[in-house]
Amino acid sequence: MAILGGGPGGYEAALVATQLGAEVTVVDEDGLGGACVLTDCVPSKTLIESSTAMTSLGRSASLGLQLENGDNPVVDVDAPALYARIKALAAAQSNDIAERVEAEGVRIIQARGSLTGPHTIEAAGTAVHADVVLIATGAFPRVLPGAVPDGERILTCRQVYDLDDLPEELIVVGSGVTGAEFASAYQALGTQVTLVSSRERVLPHEDKDAAVVIEGVFRRRGMNVLGRSRAESVHRKGDGVVVTLTDGRTVTGSHCLLTVGMVPSTTSIGCERASVNLDRRGFVDVDRVSRTSAPGVYAAGDCTGVLMLASVAAMQGRIAMWHALGEAVQPLRLSHVASTIFTDPEIASVGVSQAAVDRGEVAARVVKQPLATNPRAKMGGFRDGFVKIFARPGTGLVLGGVVVAPRASELILPISLAIEQNLSVDQLAHTFSVYPSLSGSVTEAARTVMEFGPDAIL
Ligand SMILES: Cc1cc2nc3c(=O)[nH]c(=O)nc-3n(C[C@H](O)[C@H](O)[C@H](O)COP(=O)(O)OP(=O)(O)OC[C@H]3O[C@@H](n4cnc5c(N)ncnc54)[C@H](O)[C@@H]3O)c2cc1C
Repeated sequence: MAILGGGPGGYEAALVATQLGAEVTVVDEDGLGGACVLTDCVPSKTLIESSTAMTSLGRSASLGLQLENGDNPVVDVDAPALYARIKALAAAQSNDIAERVEAEGVRIIQARGSLTGPHTIEAAGTAVHADVVLIATGAFPRVLPGAVPDGERILTCRQVYDLDDLPEELIVVGSGVTGAEFASAYQALGTQVTLVSSRERVLPHEDKDAAVVIEGVFRRRGMNVLGRSRAESVHRKGDGVVVTLTDGRTVTGSHCLLTVGMVPSTTSIGCERASVNLDRRGFVDVDRVSRTSAPGVYAAGDCTGVLMLASVAAMQGRIAMWHALGEAVQPLRLSHVASTIFTDPEIASVGVSQAAVDRGEVAARVVKQPLATNPRAKMGGFRDGFVKIFARPGTGLVLGGVVVAPRASELILPISLAIEQNLSVDQLAHTFSVYPSLSGSVTEAARTVMEFGPDAIL
C-alpha cells in the first residue's frame, strides 16, 4: 500500500492496512495527523477550549462568585502563551500519531510526493511501487481574488496562531462552520468581532432553529453580525484592514479572517498520470467504498469533498483498505455521521435534517425540548439551547437529532447510537439518564415524542 497524505484519511488507513498484514508506506510533507492535527481541527478546538473557559468565568457573577482582585478585576488573555500552548499541543499530537504508526511497522517518508502512475508514488527521489494507492492529500483554505492573505492582518484560519496578540477588532468573512467557530471563540476571548455573512442568517446550511439560537447569542454578547453582506475585497489600511462589501459598504477592523471554504489539494499530485478523474471543482471522484476512476487507486478525506470532517476522512480511508484487502465492508453511510459546530453553545447533529423533513423528503415526528427547563442547565446558568429528536411515525425509530448545548458534542452520542442500532424513541426514553444532567433532556425529548402515541402519523 502506498498512501499519499498522512492526515486522518491517510494514517487511519495505514493502521488498518498494517493490521491486515499489508506493507504500507505513507508519504506526507507536513507531519502525521495532517492539517487536521497541525493547523485545523486540533488547534481550533484547543483555542475554543480556552474561550469556553473564558465564557464560564464570565458567568461567575451570576453563580455567586466574585472574580475581583484588587485593581485587576478582569481575566487577561496571555495571547503568546495561548498560541504557544495550541502549537505545542498540535505538534505533540502529531508526534504521538507518528510514533504509533511507526510502531505498527508503517514506513513514513516525510516529503512532498506525487503519482507517476496508478501504482507508483514518487517522493524525495524514491519511487514507491504498490499494489494499491490511496490519495489523502486534504484541502487548503480558499481565498478571494480581492483578498490576499498576508499572515499579519489578512488571515486564513491556519495563520491566526502565528499572531503576537489577540486581534482587537476582528472581521470574520464567512459565516459557515469555521467562521462561526472562530467568531464565537474570539468574541469570548475579548475581541470585538464583526461577522460578515452573505446569507440571511449565520450557519445557512445547518438546522435553522439551532442557527437562530447561535445568532441570538452572538448578538447578545455584542457581536456585529452583518447578514446579506458579501465581501468583495479586503485591503490593509494603516494599522488595520478595510473590508469592502459588494454593495459598496465598508467595514473596518484591526484584522480580517477569511473563512470562505476549502479547495482540494489535488493539483500537481499526478492524478492525470494515474487516470484519476477529478470533478469540476477539483475533488477526486469516489464511490462509497472510496474507489476512484482508476482501478487500484482509492481516495479518502477532504480531497474527495464528500463531507469535510476528520471522522469521515478516517472512515473513508479505513473503508478503502478493507475493500482493497478483501474484507467485508459497509459502504460509507453519510446519514449516520455525527458532527458538531464548536460555537458556544455547541451545535451537534446526526441523521435526518429539519430541512429534509420540511421539504417532505422524510416523514418524521419532531420534538424540540428547550434546555432552559433542564435543572442542570439552570444550575450552570445555561439558558440557550435545546434537544431535538426526529422519529419515524408509527415505529418510533430514531431518525435524527440536533442538540444545542454546552458540550453538545458529548450529548449527541445516545442519539447517534440509537440511529446506528435502529433503536426507537421508546427504547431511548426507557434508558436511565442521571439526575440532574443535561443528557436528561435527551431522554425527556424521547419521552415527549412518545406522547404523540405509537400510532401517530405525520
Ligand atoms: C478550522 C478547521 C476546523 C476543523 N475542525 C474540525 C472538527 O472539529 N472536527 C472534524 O471532524 N473536522 C474538522 N475539520 C475538518 C478536518 O480538519 C478535515 O476534514 C480533515 O483534516 C481531513 O483529513 P484528510 O486526511 O483528508 O486531510 P488533511 O488533514 O488535510 O491531511 C492531508 C495531509 O496530506 C499532506 N499532503 C498533501 N499533499 C501532499 C503531497 N503532494 N505530498 C505529500 N503530502 C501531501 C498534507 O501535508 C497533510 O499532512 C476542521 C477544518 C478546519 C479548516
